[in-house]
Amino acid sequence: MTTSADSRIEFTRLPHPGPVPGATRAEALADPGFGKLFSDHMVMIDYTEGRGWHDATLGPRGPIALDPATAVLHYAQEIFEGLKAYRHDDGTIALFRPRANAERFNASARRLAMPELPEDAFIEAIRQIVAADRDWFPPVAGGSLYLRPFMFASEVFLGVRPARNYKFIVIASPAGNYFKSGAPAVSIWVSEDYTRAAPGGTGAAKCGGNYAASLVPMAEAMARGHDQVVFLDAAERKWIEELGGMNLFFVFADGSMVTPPLGGTILPGITRDSLIDLARDEGLTVREERYSLDQWRDDAQSGRLVETFACGTAAVVTAVGTVAGAHGSFTIGSGGPGQLTTKLRDRLVAIQRGSAPDPHGWVMKLD
Ligand SMILES: *Cc1c(COP(=O)(O)O)cnc(C)c1O
Repeated sequence: MTTSADSRIEFTRLPHPGPVPGATRAEALADPGFGKLFSDHMVMIDYTEGRGWHDATLGPRGPIALDPATAVLHYAQEIFEGLKAYRHDDGTIALFRPRANAERFNASARRLAMPELPEDAFIEAIRQIVAADRDWFPPVAGGSLYLRPFMFASEVFLGVRPARNYKFIVIASPAGNYFKSGAPAVSIWVSEDYTRAAPGGTGAAKCGGNYAASLVPMAEAMARGHDQVVFLDAAERKWIEELGGMNLFFVFADGSMVTPPLGGTILPGITRDSLIDLARDEGLTVREERYSLDQWRDDAQSGRLVETFACGTAAVVTAVGTVAGAHGSFTIGSGGPGQLTTKLRDRLVAIQRGSAPDPHGWVMKLD
């Protein structure tokens, strides 16, 4: 079966020899967790220099054989995205701002010297896998189908230059609530020895390499009993940037909010961008400006700062309860989720799940 995706890319559907039996699937979907369960299918599209994107398939999910000299295994030319599909109460399936993911994917591609994928092909690829795996939505509260589009250099070559062949793949992973029992507030560790991104580096690109570099500080945070690590800027080691995979917001007693400005070292989160709009809809002042670790500590202690939260697609909005570093620790507000954190989270989730109006046109219904 072949369906038209856009003027250039056609998807071929490969037969699936053995999808997971319904009973096994239902059992797994009762407690999906995050990132450990996968659906039956995957989308693959190949890129060849001089020919462009070709051989788009929707087929059975399975291992991909790679030559040991495949470029990505050596020089990490790889980017990814993360977005969720939701099943609304009326049975329709919806995506949240998928075009923003497609645009960011191409921005990441440009930074990593990779070819751009037409936005329509990105969205059609998602449409194809969601349609094929529509029985993989977990019937649990807060459940969604997490989609992971990614691209890597597939050329077999050890020379150092941008590769000439790439693979774009989309897999789907049924997800429950990111934090089991919806962790009320997390404890974060300030990394003073390691940074995540430097000016001129790849901090604004969603690439696997950034995550690889964040694992030592992340492990350090966890070994000290914390949930997440927060990074400071690489130039002055003074300004708060973000967590390993989530952006940060600071809420003040006067009701205003601050989030660090995008300037090449911070990942431009779609959740971040949406929350800025939702907060402004509420009449709140949101400033995108630098905020230092010292100021954060002083403001938390004086009561000028009342809440801090982290945000991203996987965990949506998560309150930060305590902050610890080499120079001591401090508590934010009461140490639990604050009022505005909870309100903004509920607003966003209601739009994503179709239980509130969508004034910004963020929800894309799939047929
Ligand atoms: C993906 C990501 C985020 C969050 O982005 P969303 O679009 O909101 O999911 C924040 N920081 C980093 C480093 C990320 O990789």
